[in-house]
Amino acid sequence: MISIVIGVVVVAALAFFMSRSGSETATPEPSEAKAEPPVRQVETPKAEPKAKEALTLIMSPKEAQAAASDAMASSEPTVVPEGQTEKPTSATELQAEPENEPQTEQEPQVETPTATKAELPAGGSAVLALLDVSGENLSSPNRAALSAASQLAEARGVPLHICCLGADTQSAAHAGLEGATVHSISDESLADGLSETYTAAALSALAAIPADAIVGAASTIGKGFLPRLAEALGCGMVSEILSVESADTFTRALWAGSTIATVKGEGRLVISVRATGFDPAQTSEASPQSISFQAPPSKLRFVERQVTSSARPDLSEASVVVSGGRGTKGDFAPIEELADALAAGMGASRAACDAGWVPNDLQVGQTGKVVAPNLYFAIGISGAIQHIAGMKGSKTIVAINKDADAPIFGVADYGLVADLFDACPELAQKVASQGLKPTA
Ligand SMILES: Cc1cc2nc3c(=O)[nH]c(=O)nc-3n(C[C@H](O)[C@H](O)[C@H](O)COP(=O)(O)OP(=O)(O)OC[C@H]3O[C@@H](n4cnc5c(N)ncnc54)[C@H](O)[C@@H]3O)c2cc1C
Repeated sequence: MISIVIGVVVVAALAFFMSRSGSETATPEPSEAKAEPPVRQVETPKAEPKAKEALTLIMSPKEAQAAASDAMASSEPTVVPEGQTEKPTSATELQAEPENEPQTEQEPQVETPTATKAELPAGGSAVLALLDVSGENLSSPNRAALSAASQLAEARGVPLHICCLGADTQSAAHAGLEGATVHSISDESLADGLSETYTAAALSALAAIPADAIVGAASTIGKGFLPRLAEALGCGMVSEILSVESADTFTRALWAGSTIATVKGEGRLVISVRATGFDPAQTSEASPQSISFQAPPSKLRFVERQVTSSARPDLSEASVVVSGGRGTKGDFAPIEELADALAAGMGASRAACDAGWVPNDLQVGQTGKVVAPNLYFAIGISGAIQHIAGMKGSKTIVAINKDADAPIFGVADYGLVADLFDACPELAQKVASQGLKPTA
């Protein structure tokens, strides 16, 4: 019986790869086939919004509470073994200098790395896309941010400027979009990824390119500096937008993606973009104009970066992702075998990461990475709402679980009720014997 169903999954995977071959891009697109969470209609609120309020959530508190209750009701209870608690995941790369450490050398003057309000660059009628780049290629999150920025510039009828920030901004030469002007700030001080330095670089970009909408990727670096930029500018921020509805209106996910809110921004805005909401922009060659930047003294000091190296494709960029959960009971060999057969990136549920079975950077979900590959395998994963929040944008979802009632089957395109320790090796073998490989 398992063999028959595995055969169906293999045939589906084969059909999937065949249909992908020849396609120019392995760009993940939001799944159209799956039911989307309820989308709030954009309505002008009857009552006049408060003049000083930069952002308006178009949902009354009562509605919001009702939506939250719905979301809670629709989520499956989380199964946590007795004595085990869900602990927050966090990776701290930076350490603020200890207050009382004996000083051996003169510390730099403590200064806010950003300009004072009086010196702030004025707004202007333009959209500025700020991309945190490294190396020759533009990442998918940056390309998605470019798509969003371009849509916003079109909706506003204003020019689009693109500014690449980083220690290595080679990719700025390929960041061209029709009608847009490309700039770059290339400075060694940006190599450490300190949010304060990126904020200062962003302010330098704004001094050269007055803009009243600043758009960036909700990447690790973007999540660090974009809110600081909004604070420095004293303007509103809309985080992790999923769509541009009009010149001032956007959608974003709430409650682990179970509710989509429509938000309206007034005045100058900083906007971060969730990569799964937008098709990555197809860029062209450009001749970037260099903007000068002097990194300000900072109280923060970069200490160490620990990079996990893996021969497998990066989780955020992979076109196929194979994820394992608590059902593996700590034995990830079958997950790795299938991932290798498919040349896939490997992911995991938070339960598997918290148990220490795999590194935290493999976590997919609300508090992990948000991925949207062409093909996603959820294996031994129950399908808690927080996990689904991180993978439901995947084009095709395959679930393998021995519990036929597991909620993951509710979002899966293909489901296999089986023991993963039998199904994964058999599936990996069949994939290998068919010579299947993702096209990108
Ligand atoms: C604020 C908050 C944020 C969170 N963020 C995240 C997040 O980002 N990502 C995330 O994943 N979770 C997150 N969680 C945790 C989430 O609620 C779940 O606890 C977690 O996703 C469960 O992981 P799991 O599906 O691997 O484990 P379980 O829920 O225990 O499911 C294990 C599954 O494996 C199946 N199984 C068991 N043995 C086998 C076998 N031999 N073969 C096949 N199937 C088998 C079982 O039937 C079961 O369905 C968060 C929770 C909170 C409160």
